[in-house]
Amino acid sequence: MSVPFLDLKAQYRSIKQEIDPAMQGIVDSCAFASGPAVEKFEKDFATYCGTKHCIGVGNGTSALELILRAYGIGVGDEVITVTNSFFASAEAISLANATPVLIDCREDDALIDTTKIEAAITKKTKAIIPVHLYGQCADMDQVMAIAEKHKLIVIEDTCQAHGALYKAKKAGSMGHAAAFSFYPGKNLGAYGEAGAVTTSDDTVNATIRMLRDHGMQEKYKHKIVGKNERMDGIQGAVLAVKLPHLDAWNDARRKHATLYRTLLKDNPNVTLFTAHDDRLSNYHLFVIRVKNRDHVQAQLKEKGIATGIHYPIPIHLQEAYAGKWKRDDFPVSEKMAGELLSLPMYAEMTKEMVREVCETLQAML
Ligand SMILES: *Cc1c(COP(=O)(O)O)cnc(C)c1O
Repeated sequence: MSVPFLDLKAQYRSIKQEIDPAMQGIVDSCAFASGPAVEKFEKDFATYCGTKHCIGVGNGTSALELILRAYGIGVGDEVITVTNSFFASAEAISLANATPVLIDCREDDALIDTTKIEAAITKKTKAIIPVHLYGQCADMDQVMAIAEKHKLIVIEDTCQAHGALYKAKKAGSMGHAAAFSFYPGKNLGAYGEAGAVTTSDDTVNATIRMLRDHGMQEKYKHKIVGKNERMDGIQGAVLAVKLPHLDAWNDARRKHATLYRTLLKDNPNVTLFTAHDDRLSNYHLFVIRVKNRDHVQAQLKEKGIATGIHYPIPIHLQEAYAGKWKRDDFPVSEKMAGELLSLPMYAEMTKEMVREVCETLQAML
């Protein structure tokens, strides 16, 4: 049996009856950019996350960038984030013309090492961006306590954590603001590019609404210089249809994750990340660590099992940031990058598929 890494067609088949008329409705009404479908989704998603506001934008990277700009963070300001993440976590800081300051991740959960935050704070530090990587929340109590002590803004990078919980609080409701991505492969995925900001801060809500629409408050009256980061009508319609399914999809992923853990936990060649008792991951990704990763991945591929690597190169070693950091700056992330392996994970996969992945993997380790 071959097992794909992700199967977006399987999900579409399961909700085609709802999606097709919703998309046709946008075409019929020609409400292509913003419009009532986007507004409905914004309301629904704010309610879901437990925040006062949700602002639909073009993608997750822009969500992060616009939050930084809304807080007036820019030239000369430093923003702390973690090197073991998707590049956009730092890229957005650079796009806002601020300076990314990276720190290492923890060995047990691959999340931002909150014990290293304070040492990275300077007079220029304005914000911290904890990343809820792979769908598990960073240690937000620690992050918020440090931020409060040093008067810093906390921006959650929730691009992988739709519906994840931290001590019964929804991801995206704990910081001053949060950035979501609805890239098609995320747990809540659009049919194209989309993103959103959640916040309970009225001023930031108003500013981001202007920033995403050329700095306009009223038509053709530009109060500030913004961008075009509006959400497409079709994406709003698709996301509004999908949102009521998110919890069930996340539950299915959690079941698969539990089975993966049960089947792999006794293998001395597989290292599992800790799933903290006070958090509920949405298992955007199910990531393990194995020695000889590239060989293992190639062999799995030969047997029809698709895997991913998230991420093969930590942000501080990316060419785009050449000269800013060097090898050995963040040893935990560097060591991990050579061992990370993401196993197939999506709601519609079957138990048999999870078993197949584990049996094939165990046979070669
Ligand atoms: C996907 C992702 C982003 C960027 O989102 P886009 O919608 O692709 O711009 C940012 N941070 C993390 C951790 C992500 O996984």
